[in-house]
Amino acid sequence: MTMPLPSSPRAFFVGSGIAAMSAAVLLIRDAGWRGRDIRILEELPVVGGALDGSGDAIGGFLTRGGRMWTEEAYVCLWDVLASVPAAGDRSRSVKDAVWAFNAEVLTDAGARLIDGEHRILDASALGFDLHDRLDLVRLLVTPERLLGTRRIDDWFAPHFFETNFWALWRTTFAFQNWHSAVELRRYMLRFLQEFPRIHTLGGVRRTPLNQYDSVVRPMQEWLAQHGVVFELASRVLDADFAEEGGGRRIERLHGERAGRPFAIDLARDDKVFLTLGSMTADASRGGHDRAATLVREPLEGAWTLWKRL
Ligand SMILES: Cc1cc2nc3c(=O)[nH]c(=O)nc-3n(C[C@H](O)[C@H](O)[C@H](O)COP(=O)(O)OP(=O)(O)OC[C@H]3O[C@@H](n4cnc5c(N)ncnc54)[C@H](O)[C@@H]3O)c2cc1C
Repeated sequence: MTMPLPSSPRAFFVGSGIAAMSAAVLLIRDAGWRGRDIRILEELPVVGGALDGSGDAIGGFLTRGGRMWTEEAYVCLWDVLASVPAAGDRSRSVKDAVWAFNAEVLTDAGARLIDGEHRILDASALGFDLHDRLDLVRLLVTPERLLGTRRIDDWFAPHFFETNFWALWRTTFAFQNWHSAVELRRYMLRFLQEFPRIHTLGGVRRTPLNQYDSVVRPMQEWLAQHGVVFELASRVLDADFAEEGGGRRIERLHGERAGRPFAIDLARDDKVFLTLGSMTADASRGGHDRAATLVREPLEGAWTLWKRL
């Protein structure tokens, strides 16, 4: 039986990563939505997506990624976190707590590059020649449509890949030589300010606790206090679309909770925000004596929904 649709618009978020939670904060804070009209559907038993952090001294600790936030590049996120009270100290915001922590505990890596004999190398000279510099500037000023599908190693001469800069940059941002030149350009435009301090990672900002406890938990608490409903272990598997006025509108979400199917009918004014896929979907854990399982076929709902759409 289909339930009658409510009259005030509702917002549904599929996924509870930093993107969805930030958007929910902004809906309430800046767009004046009521928290109780917002529902967040998450397939995992915990919110936060890739910003995780858990474990104990016996079973081991888990953080599936270490994010290096900078003050200059994360302007929108800091703006959101300026409104969320910090964990354990409600008199200040998450932003203030993180910034204060970093003013006290500076990132100053002393061994960014080592040689084959495990000796620390001086990485302060980036090692560019004139040709590398020209290629770099040319990359920054070339529009994406002209770069097309070019790879990084299509763009730069062999010398570039031997520079300290490339060893530092690729190990900071996880680039391979065959990755897309467009992607490299985007990162360079966003993180240009890191060039003079990339050999110490001096621009990196850390959170006082792991990122789940320092950022995700306070956001979840703030949203819950405003009435937002979190539906965990709820996997969205598909969406029905209606053709309308030259566009498309989602009219139903299909999912599964505790092995049972569910459907959500959407009214015309309802909003749906889908996080498609997740960098940490299908992550598996290894140990000192056990390799992580190599997952060749996507298993989690994150990719099921993406494939179906
Ligand atoms: C190893 C690693 C290092 C990183 N380093 C950095 C860094 O230095 N700096 C930086 O800025 N970023 C870094 N990132 C990236 C950053 O962590 C992610 O970009 C960010 O956390 C993504 O947030 P999100 O909300 O878009 O998605 P996610 O965090 O992936 O959240 C998506 C959520 O949606 C859920 N979901 C998806 N589909 C469904 C569905 N169909 N039904 C129900 N739930 C669903 C997932 O379970 C997940 O919880 C790193 C990531 C990794 C993995």
